[in-house]
Amino acid sequence: MYDYDLLVVGSANADLVIGVERRPGAGETVLGGDLATHPGGKGANQAVAAARLGARTALLARVGDDAHGRLLLDSQRAAGVDTVGVLVGGAPTGVALITVDPSGDNSIVVSPGANGRLTPADVRAAVCLFHASRVVSAQLEIPLETVLEVVRSLAPGSRFVLNPSPPRPLPGEVLAACDPLIVNEHEARVILGEACVSEEPADWARLLLAKGPRSVVVTLGAAGALVADGHGTERIPSVKVDAVDTTGAGDAFTAALAVRLGAGASLAEAAAYAARVGAAAVTGRGAQESYPTAAEVDAL
Ligand code: ADP
Repeated sequence: MYDYDLLVVGSANADLVIGVERRPGAGETVLGGDLATHPGGKGANQAVAAARLGARTALLARVGDDAHGRLLLDSQRAAGVDTVGVLVGGAPTGVALITVDPSGDNSIVVSPGANGRLTPADVRAAVCLFHASRVVSAQLEIPLETVLEVVRSLAPGSRFVLNPSPPRPLPGEVLAACDPLIVNEHEARVILGEACVSEEPADWARLLLAKGPRSVVVTLGAAGALVADGHGTERIPSVKVDAVDTTGAGDAFTAALAVRLGAGASLAEAAAYAARVGAAAVTGRGAQESYPTAAEVDAL
């Protein structure tokens, strides 16, 4: 019997957003609107998405001993995430400084801060969380050596889900543990590198599968997703909605998929449910604020 349906190992950032008429060039100062501060980071987003769906969720992450760190801890707890694994201190909380112009184009500077200080030793010290969790998910906004330690810390019988974002080439040991590896088009291209010789998502899925993961999911925005494993490839249609803001849709999709897989669904069933969660997430503004409850997904 597991204590957690999902353990998320990953980043927690404060997103600091200012609307501007025009984004500043080099040496330039522009006046913007009021500052909006949102809890974000792919790890924190996934944990909130899973908990909103009713999953028993824990987060292993690092934040600074500062106001942004407290904001992130508060938002996790408000969603029902167990924050016993959230370490505090070592560097300021990770921050994304975002300017957005009226056309929606943005410029972003990310300071990883405490996320960059989540170490393999932190993972080893959290071994109890790994043994208590049915599924473990990770992303790449923390050091790659820490993700490698996550893979090495998986308890027998638990399942590992990776969204390699921001993408970079992955060691074979990490790829082999993924069930599934979840990528969008950009991530697929970076991970395949020179092997990416086709424009066809079904080919990316097959080529990625050949790199070692037990299964692969390619997300295609409004076009849905594609799942592939040893049995073949299947297209998962999207749900038609009026998209307002796609921020964090991939994180909601990944969390929902991980939770459904842990509940015993097949990869195609889990991806179909995750597509509904992703669709619900794009109908609201922001990332965590837009994540649906299980009842809201059923009503979609
Ligand atoms: P990422 O944010 O990582 O690029 P995607 O944009 O592919 O990920 O979105 C993840 C999933 O969310 C998609 O596979 C799809 O199921 C759902 N989704 C995203 N955008 C839309 C949309 N405009 N309409 C319906 N579903 C969407």
